[in-house]
Amino acid sequence: MTTSAKLFEQACRHIPGGVNSPVRAFKGMDRPPVFMERAKGAYLFDVEGKRYVDYVGSWGPMITGHADPEVLGAVRERLDAGLSFGTPTAVETTMADLICEMIPSIEMVRMVNSGTEATMSAVRLARGFTGRDKIVKFEGNYHGHTDSLLVKAGSGALTHGEPSSPGVPASLAEHTVTLSFNDPEAVEQCFEEIGSEVACIIVEPVAGNMNCIPPQPGFLETLRQVCDRFGSLLIFDEVMTGFRVAMGGAQAHYDVKPDLTCLGKIVGGGMPVGAFGGRREVMEVISPLGPVYQAGTLSGNPLAMSAGIALLNKLQAPGFHDALAQRVETLCHGLEERAAAAGIDMITQRAGGMFGLFFTGQSRVDNFAQATACDGDAFRRFFTAMLDEGVYLAPSAFEAGFMSSAHAPEDIQLTLDAAERAFATMQRR
Ligand code: PMP
Repeated sequence: MTTSAKLFEQACRHIPGGVNSPVRAFKGMDRPPVFMERAKGAYLFDVEGKRYVDYVGSWGPMITGHADPEVLGAVRERLDAGLSFGTPTAVETTMADLICEMIPSIEMVRMVNSGTEATMSAVRLARGFTGRDKIVKFEGNYHGHTDSLLVKAGSGALTHGEPSSPGVPASLAEHTVTLSFNDPEAVEQCFEEIGSEVACIIVEPVAGNMNCIPPQPGFLETLRQVCDRFGSLLIFDEVMTGFRVAMGGAQAHYDVKPDLTCLGKIVGGGMPVGAFGGRREVMEVISPLGPVYQAGTLSGNPLAMSAGIALLNKLQAPGFHDALAQRVETLCHGLEERAAAAGIDMITQRAGGMFGLFFTGQSRVDNFAQATACDGDAFRRFFTAMLDEGVYLAPSAFEAGFMSSAHAPEDIQLTLDAAERAFATMQRR
């Protein structure tokens, strides 16, 4: 029995499923999860000292690699001043100024502690601002586990076959209208019918929780147009894409401006942080300025702000995102070439610093139905073979992969060599 398997058994005694977030459990992957001990740059090291080239990056935040010395240094520097005060601190203003400068559609921003809190608060704000109850989301988009948004969601909810969770009251879920991603006609039709009742559309501008699905040209533009026509707010959930697809997020990359933006992951540099922000007129409806309530004991935590600021500052290095996208390109092309050589049907899709692998004979995947039609068994075999080779991919066919600037050409080459052998083992079956 491996040390990880033993630790997993122990964990299962008092932690549901042995994990504090479901996707970590390796459900359906034929083996217990690997327990990690430490991480550095592009690598994770497990409890037995085995090294893995990591393409999860703590699910997104580690865009400059694990244990970035500048991020750790910023936290160390702040540490002795105390962990939390429950008062305003100047570092929160520095963070707000930085976010507003990097993402021009954000004129005011409120810090929270997770992506879930960010989307939950943004939806409440949209409802409060418009005085409407209905919200529109897309099948397979995951916006955290807040009740209103846990309807036909992706990520762990999808892996576990429970797109809609028990515990979400039907009377609440009925206000959530779910449409197919990349289907502008469905959006137009929905708004023709109930547009005047819709508080907001919330969307992952690049879907990253049903694998990686970029928007088709015109899709995000249609969302903007119908929101303008019917007085609804457009919320971009950029928890995953923010500062990753481009410096200014997917909204900069695709040039579509939302009313509100949700952030998480990178903005905290690996600490528990989220944020939501947008048009001043809307944000002024939040307490204490306005009547829509939102609060947090640890929100704007100074240590977390210091980590996030250090990371955001690093990303401003000229050419950072172009170089990152180039690495993703090299990896994805290399994987496609090796899959083709082995006669395995696999394609990749990508946007900036994120990517997805699809085991399918189709030439592209644009929505939930197509993503779930891919060969899950082929993914499982590839994932397992890669893990044995020392390459850590997300343990689910429905999660995006993340590249960091710490992934050197040698790491990509190692990954491609491992993939060649993994595809060969898949072929032999
Ligand atoms: N929105 C998106 C797009 C996400 O990818 C996630 C998490 N993966 C969330 C919201 C929820 O964030 P958190 O897990 O920090 O609550």
